[in-house]
Amino acid sequence: MITQVQAGPYTLRGISVGGVYTTLHVPELDAVLDVGLPLRSFATAGRYFLSHGHLDHVAGLAGLLNIRGLVGGGRATIHLPAEIEGAVRELLRAHAALSRAEAEVELVPMLPGDERPLGHGVFVRALRTHHPVPSLGYQFIRRTSKLCPEHLGKPSAEIARLRKAGAPGLFEEHESLELAYATDTLSRVLETEPSLLESRVLVIECTFVEAERGVEHARRKFHLHLDELIELAPRFQNEAVVLMHFGQGASPAQVREVLRERLPPGLRERVVAFVPEGDRWFG
Ligand SMILES: [Zn+2]
Ligand SMILES: [Zn+2]
Repeated sequence: MITQVQAGPYTLRGISVGGVYTTLHVPELDAVLDVGLPLRSFATAGRYFLSHGHLDHVAGLAGLLNIRGLVGGGRATIHLPAEIEGAVRELLRAHAALSRAEAEVELVPMLPGDERPLGHGVFVRALRTHHPVPSLGYQFIRRTSKLCPEHLGKPSAEIARLRKAGAPGLFEEHESLELAYATDTLSRVLETEPSLLESRVLVIECTFVEAERGVEHARRKFHLHLDELIELAPRFQNEAVVLMHFGQGASPAQVREVLRERLPPGLRERVVAFVPEGDRWFG
């Protein structure tokens, strides 16, 4: 069965085993983060986001699009690092040749700092992560317009009249960093993208937790070690921090135990381990 956790107001469903496969569905954002394997119930999601081209994050793409075609999901919108757009098109072309059926897709190439509207006041901003191949993280932002304090309490007819007249300073825009996704990256991402520490929910990789394979090992592999997150503990302002992409070096039970033992109070209560129940990784 797939794993499901709650992090603040967001649900995360899916599978994540570092180097093997990662795919996460956030129903509240109608978004799937990476497609390391094709899960049936992810095929009708509104939008997809690829972090990078390593196969544990993209190997399920063609299969998922095939399921989407089967259930009449319509054109899929796939956000991805601009540098891998050509390769993904080629991959889809090869699959179309194999199956004699073309998947309906819209690729949305993104560069760090690019922002795209997703509808209903929600936007996504691409951010730079640090991996040996072109890679991105994603920050989901909600923007709302609120009546400026000096107009609060005025009758709605008056507000409507001012609005119609195009009165300046009637509304102020409020921006809320809702959920951020940063996987397959050095811990340096928390310095280069400090807004991650302020996002309501942060979903971040924690490939290594074992003492035997420490920080240096993790950095050589362009991944993160739990020790680095522990060192940065006072800086996390997030309501919830979801740790995912754990490697197979520790079992799910060992991951839970090490987090319970090592995370300092103050952070421990806000950390959600994205690991399956029991003691076996998926598959
Ligand atoms: Zn990975
Ligand atoms: Zn990777």
